[in-house]
Amino acid sequence: MGAARRIGVMGGTFDPIHHGHLVAASEVADVFDLDEVVFVPAGEQPFKRDRQVAEAEHRYLMTVIATASNPRFTVSRVDIDRPGTTYTIDTLRDLHALLPDAELFFITGADVLPQILQWKDAEELWGLAHFVGVTRPGHLLDDAGLPEAGVSLLEVPAMAISSSDCRERVHSGMPVWYLVPDGVVQYIGKHHLYRTDPPVADGSG
Ligand code: ATP
Ligand code: MG
Repeated sequence: MGAARRIGVMGGTFDPIHHGHLVAASEVADVFDLDEVVFVPAGEQPFKRDRQVAEAEHRYLMTVIATASNPRFTVSRVDIDRPGTTYTIDTLRDLHALLPDAELFFITGADVLPQILQWKDAEELWGLAHFVGVTRPGHLLDDAGLPEAGVSLLEVPAMAISSSDCRERVHSGMPVWYLVPDGVVQYIGKHHLYRTDPPVADGSG
């Protein structure tokens, strides 16, 4: 029997996915010697109820487009296909059931790490995955209060990009080229995401 497969889990809203997500996943995969990173677009999220989130299917497809060229990156539908609110404990339980022999590494940015103790069934998270907190510009990377054995911290190349900024840029007609993968720029344009003005008929649809 070979060694357990080491699988990274990158959870997010991915509204839209951007190069900050991709660099973080790539860096953790390299340093932690992962065989694969599964990107898991969230369904409905407890901390994002106050704003409009693009349809799950759009977020899923943008994530597929952004990761398609990397043979070690895959996308899972477990969260968007599970009815109701997305909780990471359910994500990890589902992935564990699908990949019983794998060792899971849950990747999270510095902004999210301090929230984990408030997540549903927080005390059970550490048994299902090792957590890897990564640096993110504008946020302090701190694992205070988290179980030492359950969490590692990693510096990744600094990408001052957020999905909120990308949405705001598209909304105000500014470019998102080179912030998100080319195919995602084109997908956003094709489906008129993040805009309030009516689509312009250009005959290409
Ligand atoms: P939003 O502004 O809508 O919250 P976001 O850019 O934070 O979007 P999410 O989908 O919320 O993207 O993030 C998914 C995961 O990726 C989180 O763990 C987050 O901390 C991490 N992440 C997002 N952007 C970066 C970045 N630029 N560098 C490092 N980690 C990031
Ligand atoms: Mg975020």
